[in-house]
Amino acid sequence: METKATALPHAACPAANEAAAPQAPGAAASAGPFPERGPAGGEPLDGVTQTAPGAVGEIVARARAAQRAWAEVPVAERAQRIAKVKRRLLARAEEIAALLHRECGKPIEEAALAEVLPNADLIDYWTVSIEELLDESPVDLDPIAYPGKAGRIRREPRGVVALITPWNYPVAIPLRTIVPALLAGNAVVFKPSEVTPRSGALVASLFDGLLPDGVLAVAQGGGDVGAALIDAGVDLVVFTGSVATGKKIAVACAERLVPTSLELGGKDSAIVLGDCDLERAARGVVWGAFTNAGQSCASIERVYVEQAIADRFIERVVALTRQLRPGVDVGVMTTAQQAEIVRRQLEAAVAGGAELLAGGAPEPGSLAFPPTVLKVEREDTPLLREETFGPVLPVLVVKDAEEAIARTNASRFALTTSLWTRGYERAHALARRLRSGVVTINNHGFTGALPGAPWTGTGDSGSGVTSSPHALAELTRPRFYLEDRRRAKGELWWYPYTPALRTIAFAMARVRGGAGWSGRVGALVELVAAFARRLLGR
Ligand code: NAD
Repeated sequence: METKATALPHAACPAANEAAAPQAPGAAASAGPFPERGPAGGEPLDGVTQTAPGAVGEIVARARAAQRAWAEVPVAERAQRIAKVKRRLLARAEEIAALLHRECGKPIEEAALAEVLPNADLIDYWTVSIEELLDESPVDLDPIAYPGKAGRIRREPRGVVALITPWNYPVAIPLRTIVPALLAGNAVVFKPSEVTPRSGALVASLFDGLLPDGVLAVAQGGGDVGAALIDAGVDLVVFTGSVATGKKIAVACAERLVPTSLELGGKDSAIVLGDCDLERAARGVVWGAFTNAGQSCASIERVYVEQAIADRFIERVVALTRQLRPGVDVGVMTTAQQAEIVRRQLEAAVAGGAELLAGGAPEPGSLAFPPTVLKVEREDTPLLREETFGPVLPVLVVKDAEEAIARTNASRFALTTSLWTRGYERAHALARRLRSGVVTINNHGFTGALPGAPWTGTGDSGSGVTSSPHALAELTRPRFYLEDRRRAKGELWWYPYTPALRTIAFAMARVRGGAGWSGRVGALVELVAAFARRLLGR
């Protein structure tokens, strides 16, 4: 079954190219909107064929046909096939990291650590646990009220899952859904970001020859292709991306009554308390703010530090930031559009009185945005109100933990928050008062790499869940099966509705708590007599 994986991401994705073949009139495939060169420079990247929006319906139809057969493949066999992706992924680690470096500007180490290795854990986790997680579960039924009956729940595939993803982790984010979605018996039509189409094609190529044709297909292109996918009759839309697009997708899905899972932006804060290990906190915050050049939904975009240690903490953060080597520790930003947003936010904050302590905006048009730290007092600036998605770290001094919690919770975003303290018990008490979907104590952001840990937010960060059995609850639907082995010719609640049935109904209400003890005894007597009449059809 397994075929040799090819090293050419574009050519390695027959699903995309074959599926793109049937064209709607006037909807020719084209080179598309894809960038020809990556932000890291060098030779042009391989060409990628855009899927015509008019061809998406055909891809979904093929996926639907293929899904029916795939869902019949025993779970253990599905797991066996998908487990092979792990070896392919690890064997291609250097190639994947190199592509991510070229297409997104990531440092090679970061690409390997964030986008290759955790996916091996992901595949292990799901392929080992899927049988148990999908195992049917019985539903307890009262044998007196429901004699002869047995109930069970089976988790069944949704059908065709549309997966629409962003450019910031273009290998890891898709795999976190593709692997469990396929294991659960779904087909997946995957639309990678138009900024990172080659990484998207590479992800699909990891499954070459392991799945029946059409079970995993790629639709390459921009928002028009994503919109066509939602319109093509899919059964679930799993979306990770910006709030603005998330809202459009929510509306499109609501109009079609298609369930949707939305993982959106973030404005994560780090709350640094006076009793923290200052060196660890400073190092952790610097990494949490600048990894992936700050282009992570869980980047630290606000630090609230307690007054008592503020000066020492800020001094250390600034010193550590200045030690970061451009292009080695912190890569270039991926898109000029995003760099411009970051520049505008930074300039507005400085114009509003923020004190620049390290870094600063680069020349206009440059993607090499230096890691930047500034001390901010006012929160009424876009740098504190909106998602930044770039390497800028505003630090705010607060009186105490109470103020930090209140300010953290005041944001419309609530994805992850970190607390830095040695007071673990207090930290847990504070954590319970935070709105975010993930809280880390003395660490930040990395838990997206843990396949058993739910990744989720609230508010403008969306409410979708990635990873853990909670994600499986979105990728499947619970179906209830009832089996009745009773031989009686009818049930109590079937026709005809008679006076005896009415007496039974109200006497039951009294017996089950609607009356005091003496009322219940009286109701029991009534019940016995009414059952006898009911048996006689009265
Ligand atoms: P984006 O919203 O611009 O694009 C995301 C995807 O949506 C792309 O594939 C795009 O082509 C597609 N799209 C655009 N318009 C569409 C439409 N009308 N219908 C269907 N699809 C459409 O986001 P981006 O710039 O690629 O990614 C950055 C954003 O993603 C940030 O806000 C970041 O916080 C967020 N993000 C969130 C998480 C999380 O887990 N919560 C993880 C990573 C990134």
